[in-house]
Amino acid sequence: MDEMQGKVALITGASSGIGRATALRFAAEGAKVAIVARREDKLKEVANEIEAQGGEVKVIAADVTEEAEIERVVQETVAAFGGIDVLVNAAGIITNGTIENTRLDDWDYMFKVNTRSPFYLMNRAMPYLIARKGNAVNVSSVNGIRAFTNVLAYCASKAALDQLTHCAALEVASQGVRVNAVNPGVVVTSLHRTGGMEDDAYVEFLERSKTTHPLGRVGEASEVAELIFFLASPKAGWITGGSYSIDGGRHQTCAR
Ligand code: NDP
Repeated sequence: MDEMQGKVALITGASSGIGRATALRFAAEGAKVAIVARREDKLKEVANEIEAQGGEVKVIAADVTEEAEIERVVQETVAAFGGIDVLVNAAGIITNGTIENTRLDDWDYMFKVNTRSPFYLMNRAMPYLIARKGNAVNVSSVNGIRAFTNVLAYCASKAALDQLTHCAALEVASQGVRVNAVNPGVVVTSLHRTGGMEDDAYVEFLERSKTTHPLGRVGEASEVAELIFFLASPKAGWITGGSYSIDGGRHQTCAR
């Protein structure tokens, strides 16, 4: 399988979890990967893994909430590898909060990371994606398509990301560019603990997740990376404007 050989993939959130797994997946298939996150030490660990396998990688430490940083990310990727074939927006955060207690600052920051940054990255990268008839994959969530309590801003930010995906897909389809989203259920990563969940509560949450996901288990980052890789590959050449669930069936469940 050499359909990704020599292609350039720009991947945010690559210091951890789904973004990291995606970077390793693309690199394993011969893609040149530009990996983005704030923690340079973590990105370097990922880069070392990729280089040890003979892959080409560019580490770009950046905060995707800053527009100048996003512009630099795109410029540095193009300077390093000559263009962009695939953009994967995996950087994201979660915070708890309800309609009654979500602070405006938390709402704004959630949208800044989860929605505004994918928008501006697609906006800045689009000329390069058009030049190569490339594509973008946005990492949304089951929370983008279903309502859950106490994660109000997260759900809203991911729903907006799905609609952003669908609208952008229609706009650039005639130029040969595809835009899709993936909607994972609970995946074992740093997301929830970074979002404030204590270790014990996280263990309990993973245990309970066996019952909230019909297939009886949570997901692995590598499983989501596989779907992202497929959507970005020529095999998915007739797929655009979709939000694809990968959640052990969770999006089909209703409380009863
Ligand atoms: P992780 O916490 O493991 O990874 C999140 C990544 O986002 C890290 O690489 C982090 O890097 C990066 N990031 C966060 N804020 C910024 C920022 N301001 N600038 C640059 N990078 C940033 O979580 P996941 O891998 O789980 O999350 C990846 C995506 O998957 C997210 O969009 C999340 O919403 C989505 N998702 C996750 C699910 C899950 O259960 N894990 C379920 C459904 C969706 P750094 O801290 O170094 O900046």
